[in-house]
Amino acid sequence: MKATSLFPENEMTSSPYSLFADVALGVPQEEPYQYGVPMEFKEQIAIGKRVRVPLRSQTRIGYVVGISKTASLKNIKPIAEVLDSEGPFLTEKFRKLTHWMSEYYFCSWGQAIEAVMPTPFKKGKTVMKSRSPKNTEESLVHATPVHSLTAQQSQVYESIWLTLKKHQFKKFLLHGITGSGKTEIYLCLIEKLIQEERGSIVLVPEISLTPQTTQRFKARFGDLVAVVHSRISTGKRLEEWHRLRKGEAKVVVGARSAVFSPVKDLGIIVIDEQHDDSYKQEETPRYEAGRVAEERCRIEGAVLLSASATPSLESYFEAKKAEGELLTLSERIEQRPLPQVTILDMRNERRGRTIRLFSIKLEDAIQKALDKKEQVMLLMNRRGFAPFVSCMTCGTPVGCPRCRVSMVFHHDLQKLLCHTCHYMKFPPKMCPACNKGYVRYMGIGTEKVESEAARLFPQARIARMDRDATSRKDAHEKLLERFRRREVDILLGTQMIAKGHDFPAVSVIGVISADTALNLPDFRSAERAFSLLTQVAGRAGRKDIPGRVFIQTFLPTHYAIQAAKDHDYHEFYAKEIRFREQLKMPPYQKLIQIILQGRVEKDVLKRALEFRKKLEEKSKSRGLEIMGPAPCLVSKRYGQYLWNLYLKVGDLLKANIWLKEELQSFGRQGVKITVDVNPR
Ligand code: ADP
Ligand code: ZN
Repeated sequence: MKATSLFPENEMTSSPYSLFADVALGVPQEEPYQYGVPMEFKEQIAIGKRVRVPLRSQTRIGYVVGISKTASLKNIKPIAEVLDSEGPFLTEKFRKLTHWMSEYYFCSWGQAIEAVMPTPFKKGKTVMKSRSPKNTEESLVHATPVHSLTAQQSQVYESIWLTLKKHQFKKFLLHGITGSGKTEIYLCLIEKLIQEERGSIVLVPEISLTPQTTQRFKARFGDLVAVVHSRISTGKRLEEWHRLRKGEAKVVVGARSAVFSPVKDLGIIVIDEQHDDSYKQEETPRYEAGRVAEERCRIEGAVLLSASATPSLESYFEAKKAEGELLTLSERIEQRPLPQVTILDMRNERRGRTIRLFSIKLEDAIQKALDKKEQVMLLMNRRGFAPFVSCMTCGTPVGCPRCRVSMVFHHDLQKLLCHTCHYMKFPPKMCPACNKGYVRYMGIGTEKVESEAARLFPQARIARMDRDATSRKDAHEKLLERFRRREVDILLGTQMIAKGHDFPAVSVIGVISADTALNLPDFRSAERAFSLLTQVAGRAGRKDIPGRVFIQTFLPTHYAIQAAKDHDYHEFYAKEIRFREQLKMPPYQKLIQIILQGRVEKDVLKRALEFRKKLEEKSKSRGLEIMGPAPCLVSKRYGQYLWNLYLKVGDLLKANIWLKEELQSFGRQGVKITVDVNPR
């Protein structure tokens, strides 16, 4: 963190500066640069302030992270301007947090700092004053009924409150089935914290940030709540930032980046739907909101509460090991029944060479629901890449023998490819598993389901919800609102429809193909499929109409599907964790992905092989395993070819330090290298 002197004292005295500042810049460079502090700024300079500094031929905004009396370089340039006359922008706590982020997620300190601040600050324009003084008189409004907690809820509440009272760091994982009253517990804890003038952060997946979710918090806490999501304006975001920093707002509800909200006297960070992939940022810094939240709570002596009906395997594994960390809600509120789940074996639905998209049972159930004026949801989770390949008779997908991931058919190669280890082969004609069936190229998407549904149910009002249909602002919310007002009979879509919505009139949920999720070329595919099926099944069986869920699959005996049918997380966990252990995958080993990209594919591959070689020399003694190179899941993007290596490591921080050194001495040569820690 600190710069040390390379020069003897007498040489130092000839320097025009007597103070030097370490300035972190939002560029992908390792260490903060050192700048001289001219006499005129000696009074103003302070750790945490923003400064304007020369960098090559430009000036940039930087962040003072250290001040020293000695220089570590010759030819030191001066700071051009000190911003933030009212006081340091970056508090001590955020300085620690961002430093940790830079070490953990392979970015520069400055990049981490820029990730935590609202955009206008990076441009150096904004003064740190809020513009509109706000009136916060009527604080608590109880527009919605406050439930008295059930016995199970109270128990969970008490365990957490006991720690909150002590102002100590502790993390909890709440495993609570859908509709078990998790949100109600957050509300009670936050209310109690507000009474003590302490702050709270609630993170939800971006897609769940609907007016319905936020309304629950606003109804309870009124103006004390700040809501931040990607659709609010920069001005509004800034206003909320100031309200939180000043303590006028005490609760923030938001997506991933809300973990950096400047909440005063932080008591708790809640991470709802903790397993959700959107908590990982896919660009530098490639942080995980949950991991960052944990570190933040550690620094600030706060409580971390992660919650889900289907906790990530890693988090459950960790929580089971720690004393008092795992909390459970095993019952639904008012003993509402969990929906009955029926698995439909699609191998029986063949008509000659064609397969029905809707099995007869599902078609019947939908028709009956429509007749009774009840609503239907259909899930077709299909992301836009090459179709998978599976057997017509036994349903087994063609998988990589080394990695237990599905192989992906590449049109240009006319071959199957493993995206993890690059194992390649011609697609077999006959199924390698049963030797009886023909191998088929599967590929249906939401649009195909929509047209088929329109054909089967011509009288129904159908709406489709996926990334294509909701790219416009608010389109997603409007669709949900129309469905809630029952202007739509059948809502079909990708996983977007599975997230936390409560639709009392839905009586049938159909999963068109559970296999699209299961066959993703990723070691987490079973976990994702189980989680998605459980979440979507949780949408039914609320209020007075008992729900029915139908899962169509070619893999009716797959453990992820069976466990989802039984609503049994433990059954799934027990099976999956054994596979992870055998394959030395997370949580048993940590993964680091090294991505190489460039315009010329053979150069990218060459550098990937060279880097592998370099790492191999020391990998044995360091007890780590290298996989690849193989093309990335998206192997060409914006004209750039992408290849990756994977490292399996035991101790992440140790491996990071070593890898950083290796990267520094490797050089660029036209191929850019990025590192993704704990990739999703
Ligand atoms: P989860 O977050 O686990 O899905 P919620 O907190 O949304 O569950 O609760 C599900 C439903 O039950 C909501 O409509 C909520 O208002 C209601 N609810 C929660 N706790 C209670 C309670 N103690 N008594 C009555 N109703 C409750
Ligand atoms: Zn493989």
